[in-house]
Amino acid sequence: MSSKKKNKIKKNIRDLEKKRQQVLTELLNSKQLLRGSVATVYTKCGRENCWCKDGKGHPHTRITWSEKAKGYTRKVPKNEMSWIKKVTENYRNFRSLRRRLKELEASIKELQDKLEDILVSDTRKIKDYLWTKQ
Ligand SMILES: [Zn+2]
Repeated sequence: MSSKKKNKIKKNIRDLEKKRQQVLTELLNSKQLLRGSVATVYTKCGRENCWCKDGKGHPHTRITWSEKAKGYTRKVPKNEMSWIKKVTENYRNFRSLRRRLKELEASIKELQDKLEDILVSDTRKIKDYLWTKQ
């Protein structure tokens, strides 16, 4: 195998490793995370003269999540909305960074396997008695 091709593989591994380091740094910088989905629901209060009687009802925002096979629902106070949105978004971002790390690691591994095969095959070619058909 030509040195040019081997150097290209090595460069690709280094580049992917650099990228992996960046993603890992971003992951490790994560602070507040919250699992769950936020949704607005409407409920009627039941008061006879309330406007909600003929409409959809009063809007409430709630967050639901599950943990250890148990489901939870909590009402989110109005003044907490932007915080809840931020930390649930942080969680989704964290998960996406983890997926990205996994992909990068798989690509690095693939190139390392390739490099290993090339180096072994090149080394075998140095000695007549180690030649194989490939
Ligand atoms: Zn009402």
